Amino acid sequence: MKVLVINCGSSSLKYQLIDSETEQVLAKGLCERIGIDGRLTYSPTGGEKKVFEDPLPDHTVAVGKVLDCLTHPEYGVVASLAEIGAVGHRIVHGGEKFAAATLLTEEAITEIEKCSELAPLHNPANVIGIRACQKLMPGVPMVGVFDTAFHQTMPPKAFLYSLPYEYYEKYGVRRYGFHGTSHSYVSKRAAEILGKDVKDLKIIVCHLGNGASICAVDGGKSVDTSMGFTPLEGLTMGTRSGGLDPAILEFIAGKENLSLDQVLTILNKKSGVQGISGVSSDFRDLESAAAEGNTRAQAALDVFTYRVAKFVGYYAAAMNGVDVVVFTAGIGENDISVRATILSYLGFLGCKLDPEANNIRGEERIISTPDSKVIAMVIPTNEELAIARETVAIVNK
Ligand code: ADP
Repeated sequence: MKVLVINCGSSSLKYQLIDSETEQVLAKGLCERIGIDGRLTYSPTGGEKKVFEDPLPDHTVAVGKVLDCLTHPEYGVVASLAEIGAVGHRIVHGGEKFAAATLLTEEAITEIEKCSELAPLHNPANVIGIRACQKLMPGVPMVGVFDTAFHQTMPPKAFLYSLPYEYYEKYGVRRYGFHGTSHSYVSKRAAEILGKDVKDLKIIVCHLGNGASICAVDGGKSVDTSMGFTPLEGLTMGTRSGGLDPAILEFIAGKENLSLDQVLTILNKKSGVQGISGVSSDFRDLESAAAEGNTRAQAALDVFTYRVAKFVGYYAAAMNGVDVVVFTAGIGENDISVRATILSYLGFLGCKLDPEANNIRGEERIISTPDSKVIAMVIPTNEELAIARETVAIVNK
């Protein structure tokens, strides 16, 4: 079956068409500046990348143009829309309602809309993407795959905040966690590569991208993760602060004469390694600045790696042990020195880095020595493939 995977934002839409039998990407691309002016990129596998600057007034027009590209007689990859058997939509927030991917019935879409309060920037855009596809591809089954679903196995001791319980009961204030599709895919893949049953492994997945989170996966289930009610909690990120003393919000608001909203924007967009360094949120820039003697860039790298290592320690304790630590996403897959620094903290667990094996970017590899008690690995994530697999599983059910 050919599956169209859609990741829809408020003004953008990423897509991939995946052949679920061969698991090959047939084409992929991005619509940007929807509702502003419009820009569509389309890259058929093996063909030339195309860029169109036609207006994209809304998401339905954007999806229509994507479908035109995919079926184009010259540069398309399918003869007609009839070849597309299903659409898999990435949905950010499934609240406590969705613990797994689901067929997008009207009832399910209503529930996703109800979760919008928890993800006001993302869920409404996700629903717009679903509606646009429904309009242009009537009768094609659509499946929602949730960033939060994998973490619904977290026990109350991991997901409850130490706040008055009524806030959880009345408003759903609890830890949800994100990047679930990636944590699920990478932990399963780790077990496959090691030739073991995921049920027999304690795995800590470090998803280190611009957004970053860590997940403790015990026996194939998420038992804890570093992002919380929103993706702001936990690790130091590209531009997000991660966890901090909440009293800082009021203090900064008072000193800088800002509203709570403005402070939150700073925590989301101007903090993290960008905020500490004043250089960049990109680790390549930070490393070259640090190499030239920029002490704030070095401090940003130190804060980032130290906090990742601390979370690995928390989760080793949470699971009463750890067999495998996996690195994934932009930084985890590519940043050799960040991985080496993080692992240098984990000697106490019996984790020994093999520096030569670690000298790779973007490929699956065990990077610990053969006698290391904890196996360290790099596994590139593939959220689109994971969404396509889940979509096919639901459609075939
Ligand atoms: P997201 O999906 O959260 O936007 P990614 O997983 O694509 O982020 O990660 C992007 C980040 O990965 C970049 O900001 C950069 O810091 C880091 N990155 C990408 N390539 C490299 C590299 N070769 N070396 C170090 N860091 C890299």
